[in-house]
Amino acid sequence: MKSVQFHLFGIETRVHPSFVGLLLYYAYQCAHFNQPLWVGVIGMLCLFMSVLIHELGHALMLRLFGSGPCIKITIHAIGGHVVRCAPCNERLSAAGKIAVAFAGPLAGFCFAIVAYILMISSKTDVLLLTATNLVIMNVVLSLSNLLPTIPLDGGRMMEALINGILGRTLVSIFLVTLISSTTAMGAFSLSWAFLDPVTTGMVGLIVLVNVMRIFLDI
Ligand SMILES: [Zn+2]
Repeated sequence: MKSVQFHLFGIETRVHPSFVGLLLYYAYQCAHFNQPLWVGVIGMLCLFMSVLIHELGHALMLRLFGSGPCIKITIHAIGGHVVRCAPCNERLSAAGKIAVAFAGPLAGFCFAIVAYILMISSKTDVLLLTATNLVIMNVVLSLSNLLPTIPLDGGRMMEALINGILGRTLVSIFLVTLISSTTAMGAFSLSWAFLDPVTTGMVGLIVLVNVMRIFLDI
């Protein structure tokens, strides 16, 4: 199965086939709660749009900092990410890294405000559902991404801030690892207690990334 590719504001964007898995899970949840098909379809489109807006925020901020054609957006089963070449990454200052990481949640919050205005002025069920989905998804996606744990945006911001203040020293590496892994374990415990197995599995992947950072120095 091949990825779907297109360009958005001149940025190469790839939708990996695994993203279908996330959509199917959403469809399953809708069926589980006896929602009609059109509700599920609108929800899936909103989910895709919300992830895309988030990644577009990162990509456009990177472009503002001078990154060029090396920026690529990928949407996949656990959300999405933006890749850029190593020189573009190394050129970024601590403030630049924080701005790029924050741009994703910021784009989500801005889009949620637009969707909220649409929600309170909508006159049809379809428009109301679409706007409500977009508000909820963008707020949840943005807030959860701000958790100070790597590889989430909040974790990248925390890492850039600590490295910017202390430099890349043993103390800064220890602090980043401590904050990131403690947050990941806390989020996993809360997900285990209150959330569904798929979301808990995704948070489990964040724990795994943190464990690998400690033992494999990634
Ligand atoms: Zn992000």
